[in-house]
Amino acid sequence: MAVSQPFLFLKHRKHNLDRMTLGDLVYSFFTYYAVVAYIAVGIVSFVYAVKWFENPGRMLLAMLAASVVFPFGWYLVHKNILHSRFLYKTPFTAATWKRIHFDHHQDPNDLRVLFGALANVLPTVGGVIAPIGYLIGGRSGAAAALGWAMVITCFYEFCHCIQHLNYTPKLGFLKEIKRLHLSHHYHNEQGNYGITNYFWDRLFGTFYSKAGEKPKSPTVFNLGYTAEEAKRYPWVDKLSNGTRGDDHPRRFWQGKEGQGTQPEDAPAARGEP
Ligand SMILES: [Zn+2]
Ligand SMILES: [Zn+2]
Ligand SMILES: [Zn+2]
Repeated sequence: MAVSQPFLFLKHRKHNLDRMTLGDLVYSFFTYYAVVAYIAVGIVSFVYAVKWFENPGRMLLAMLAASVVFPFGWYLVHKNILHSRFLYKTPFTAATWKRIHFDHHQDPNDLRVLFGALANVLPTVGGVIAPIGYLIGGRSGAAAALGWAMVITCFYEFCHCIQHLNYTPKLGFLKEIKRLHLSHHYHNEQGNYGITNYFWDRLFGTFYSKAGEKPKSPTVFNLGYTAEEAKRYPWVDKLSNGTRGDDHPRRFWQGKEGQGTQPEDAPAARGEP
């Protein structure tokens, strides 16, 4: 269960972002099933937006609304759901929480757990953005907003990959958002929740620019799922095959003692019997 079913196709490919080049990443990105799905949904949405075309002003307004709502929604989900301490406390949500955020903080360079899962992202983004687009511009507004939200989703995911790739972006904007996101991973996880947009962090006071502005967090890699918590709520720990760590990012394939083999050679690390 460490690597969920849709990720198995990546198993013979590179997935350690600190060992990949930009070219490797671009290839992995555009052949990744969720990204292919976002592009397909985006194209279909834009086709319908054109087919149902009525009011260009309202259509643009619907897309603008998507551009504002998306980062705000991400901020709320990241801060209040992914970093909350309730999802690991029930066996029903433990596996999902592990997959959608815990694993990413345990090993921020593992591409297999970096992408949002299609089954979570698409219904959430579509379920929020399409109705807003509909209220603004009817069915063409809904289609345009959904299509644009798919573009934003791909942009988000790609920037997030760049942030964890062993590569220094040349663009000032990318360099800056990379620096801020890495502080969320390596300094203090209770801040800088945005990926491409830190407006909402600034507004709600969770933004910090320099490490000195916030103390180093002891839970930056385990998100509060400490050894003690793991005893009380064992489900995430069980699914992690003893790789749960506190002090530094853990390579999943290194296992408990740091001696393990890569998951493709070790069925146990994939959660297979
Ligand atoms: Zn990240
Ligand atoms: Zn996080
Ligand atoms: Zn591998």
